[in-house]
Amino acid sequence: MPTRSLTEDAQEVLRAIALIELGARMQVLESELALPRDRLIRLYREVKGESPPKGMLPSSADWYMTWMANIHASLFYNTYVFLKNEAKCSHLDALTKGYRLYREHCTHAGLEPLLDLTRAWTLVRFFNGGLLEMTQCSRCSGRFIGHKYDLRRNKACAICQPPSRAGKPGKPARDEGRARPLPPAVAAREMATPLAA
Ligand SMILES: [Zn+2]
Repeated sequence: MPTRSLTEDAQEVLRAIALIELGARMQVLESELALPRDRLIRLYREVKGESPPKGMLPSSADWYMTWMANIHASLFYNTYVFLKNEAKCSHLDALTKGYRLYREHCTHAGLEPLLDLTRAWTLVRFFNGGLLEMTQCSRCSGRFIGHKYDLRRNKACAICQPPSRAGKPGKPARDEGRARPLPPAVAAREMATPLAA
């Protein structure tokens, strides 16, 4: 392994800390950072005060297709793409900043963040692997996540066309009575504007 300068090394540690604070699992850290595993485990223990959890990462793209998850994941991914393509962030910066903005947006809207950092990271990998793609909603023109080769897929996003069970009496939707989330594209634009300025 080529030796890094102390500054580069310190920056890598700071990136690791930011990811751990946002809830990254070991697999994410090992894949994204050029730091040895034992050092990452020590960092994890220092930041979180506990050992990193074991176990497999979620591996199904279907999770992102359920109603609320699709809204949350689309919101995050629109932000990620904006940060990477328009604000010229690196993949890792776009992931970290995009995920932080997504969580802040949830806080402001009074929503529980459904997407954890690992799901956000996995989502980007599914896009890079060509499994998922963004589709434009025929009603609000927001861009939302869909399976790449699904011919039956909806042309309207989950906000414009919620499933019929959503909001039925006796089964309150989790965001009932709270602020309705903005269409993903609008929210992503609003969230990313201060960074782009
Ligand atoms: Zn829509």
